[in-house]
Amino acid sequence: MSRAYNFCAGPAALPEDVLRQAASEMLDYHGRGLSVMEMSHRSDDYVAIAETAEQDLRDLLGISDDYAVLFLQGGASQQFAMVPMNLMGRDDVADYINTGQWSAKAIKEAKQFGKVNVAASSEATNFTTVPPQDTWQLSDNAAYLHYTPNETIGGVEYDFIPESRAPLVADLSSTILSRPLDVSKFGLIYAGAQKNIGPAGVCVVIVRKDLLERAGDQVPTMLRYKVHAENGSMYNTPPTYAWYLAGLVFKWLKAQGGLTAMEQLNRRKAEKLYGYIDASGFYSNPVEKHSRSWMNVPFVLADEQFDKPFLKEADAAGLLNLKGHRSVGGMRASIYNAVPEAAVDALIDFMKDFAQRHG
Ligand code: PMP
Repeated sequence: MSRAYNFCAGPAALPEDVLRQAASEMLDYHGRGLSVMEMSHRSDDYVAIAETAEQDLRDLLGISDDYAVLFLQGGASQQFAMVPMNLMGRDDVADYINTGQWSAKAIKEAKQFGKVNVAASSEATNFTTVPPQDTWQLSDNAAYLHYTPNETIGGVEYDFIPESRAPLVADLSSTILSRPLDVSKFGLIYAGAQKNIGPAGVCVVIVRKDLLERAGDQVPTMLRYKVHAENGSMYNTPPTYAWYLAGLVFKWLKAQGGLTAMEQLNRRKAEKLYGYIDASGFYSNPVEKHSRSWMNVPFVLADEQFDKPFLKEADAAGLLNLKGHRSVGGMRASIYNAVPEAAVDALIDFMKDFAQRHG
């Protein structure tokens, strides 16, 4: 068996060690004679799996007891609605920063539940940068300030945490766990799992406990953070297997040296790839240097006519899923935690060879 290098934006590569462990535990979890998928979520075995995963995530990110950690379904897209439903009233205003397609979706959804003030947007530069905070037009009494620290499609990432009087809400789907984070600066963090956490099907929410009290009575039970917090994310049947696999990824991250080690590795991977793209004369990335994503690296070739052969040859060389998002075209290499440095090296070698042959 040989595993390819997978540059998919999500569902993304998982650590091989994690997949091996899951495979070895698949038929018979710890001598219990059944798989994790077949366990009651109320069983002692499963509750231990769930609680250990939560504790490991708390350890990795240094999350204090002031925060609830939830494992929900519905993906990050459901959070686009749950955030305003829980945190703002009809007459309230929430501030949003628009840096690309994912923030735009969050903004569109929030407008259904209250007033939205788009305090800054980088649309004028075609979303190739993050607007500097001193240009933001924040409201005086915002219910919260929402931003997207990493735009997965545009490959645009904040190199700062915004200052905010209102609780700060962040869609960390494509950058959580890529480096250390000061969680105490946030009111609420959410992240779909299928990039840096585990398989699709679970969405992690980290929410400051005082904010659990904000939701009005009209919010449906399953969409209320407080209900999930009070029930250990087991008000209904949680996505048990995805939660278990997320737990294996958290253990793997700890074994790698935690988020400081991931930061060093991810910085190196990104610097190598951008460094080559910029020097190549054949590939290019339009994002302002200080706003470039460490996780998602979009690039275009010197001519669109090379796109198809590039993808075909890359695939044949075991470099998978490099096609850019359908809305922007070109290429995108997603280099999350589980994508090893050797994958980036192999990609650069392939890109060099391709450019030489077609440049
Ligand atoms: N936000 C960001 C930043 C994303 O990258 C994605 C998925 N690519 C989403 C939200 C939507 O996530 P989901 O598919 O889990 O709803």
